[in-house]
Amino acid sequence: MPDFFINGQPVHAEKGETVMQAALAAGFYIPYFCWHPYLSVAGNCRVCVVEVEGEGGGSSWSDIACNMPVSEGMRVLTDSESVREQRKQTLQFILLNHPVDCGICDKAGECMLQDHHYAYNGEPSISTVPKVKATKYVELSDRIVLDNERCIVCSRCVRFTREISKSHGLAIQNRGDHSLVRASEDGRFNTDPYSDNVVDICPVGALLSRQFLHKARVWYLQATPSVCPGCARGCTVNLWHRKREWKLNALDPRQNTEIARVTPLENPAVNGPWICNKGRDLGQVFGRPRALQPMLKGREVSPDEAAAAARALISESGRPVALVSSWGANEELTAFKQALGDRFTCFVKRDCLPAAGEVVEDELLIRADKNPNTATAQQLFGSAPLTFPDGTDLVLVWGEGFDFTAVPRGARLIVLGSYLAPENGHADVFVPISIQTERAGHYTNFAGVTSHFAPLFAKPRHVVHAEEFFARLTVTAGIA
Ligand code: SF4
Ligand code: SF4
Repeated sequence: MPDFFINGQPVHAEKGETVMQAALAAGFYIPYFCWHPYLSVAGNCRVCVVEVEGEGGGSSWSDIACNMPVSEGMRVLTDSESVREQRKQTLQFILLNHPVDCGICDKAGECMLQDHHYAYNGEPSISTVPKVKATKYVELSDRIVLDNERCIVCSRCVRFTREISKSHGLAIQNRGDHSLVRASEDGRFNTDPYSDNVVDICPVGALLSRQFLHKARVWYLQATPSVCPGCARGCTVNLWHRKREWKLNALDPRQNTEIARVTPLENPAVNGPWICNKGRDLGQVFGRPRALQPMLKGREVSPDEAAAAARALISESGRPVALVSSWGANEELTAFKQALGDRFTCFVKRDCLPAAGEVVEDELLIRADKNPNTATAQQLFGSAPLTFPDGTDLVLVWGEGFDFTAVPRGARLIVLGSYLAPENGHADVFVPISIQTERAGHYTNFAGVTSHFAPLFAKPRHVVHAEEFFARLTVTAGIA
């Protein structure tokens, strides 16, 4: 475990650490493009160059920090005049063929090349020959396009498909300024369930999400921490949505309440820095047509009337059964348990099953259980398979994924749902409930790790929060 010096400050390094790793861990910033903490070292961008002072008055030398192991007593300078000059030359070289596209580039505002250029170069190109032109729109897959001119050939995307997703879906063709990132011709990049991570790790705006292409400048958006409910992994994510101060009135105002994009929220205990493509599509999951009105047998009523009717049905029932949602938050499940757990015979319902063609399970992140909170639901309500006891006269269905033809003949029905469904209008009581983006809560994943999600938007007027609704039914449970 060597100790060494960065800019004259003593720094401790773990055995085998590189100067880059030890410096970042100690709070010294060294710029980089091709280096990534979760990928192998490529050492091709050269911008992480540092100066090592010679021992005993010997001359100093320069090398790249990402590939330099720390040795005892070495003295490293990360921001000397020589280092800054070398970085400046390197940036001139990297920018030699890079277009000045920032005005139309989705990466603008979070581009490492913009940041490093202004930090270490900040001058126009010294080249007198025209930039090499290349194709600006190459469809690498159904989800991702490549702008060849912007690519700085750092190889992060290629290493990702080799080392993390293991699809080997990308490679670099040709050499020098003819180098091109290309997708494997057998289509394996198109079926890589983690492909969208390359958009995040591309240090420039070369790899772009087709979903998000030219949709919004990132500085108009705000990220709210959340949890992907797509499977029992419960990856932590950032849900990006329009900032209140940049609300649209004239253009399509639906954009004010849409999820513009989803990115991973790094979490070593759950998902590291990655998520799968299903997590990227949460905007479509939460953007489905909503159920907005409480109903009694299809007749629109107020939330208070719906709650009163539900209380009456529960009071009258001799044998009520509840199908509890595995998409319920810990707080909601606990509220249900406290309010109605003793009154109902409860079964945990799998709201979602794997969709056709979906990767069911793999060794990286994706879990076969496509529900975010089966762990807490089963901890509170057990894991017995659903069988309606004889005499079941009331069924409460919370959430999706239930086959309503299984409801025992003559049983009354209370349904709590968030989306439009044919069954809503047939229920004795239908209560529209808020979705994850409209409330705060926690999910506990398959490994017992609990993660928090925060609200992005206000709930619609007649929609209720399930946690509050269950608490309103407590009275009935006490009476029964
Ligand atoms: S496309 Fe992006 S991540 Fe891939 S090599 Fe080019 S700059 Fe690097
Ligand atoms: S692995 Fe599961 S929780 Fe993570 S992003 Fe994919 S679907 Fe969502």
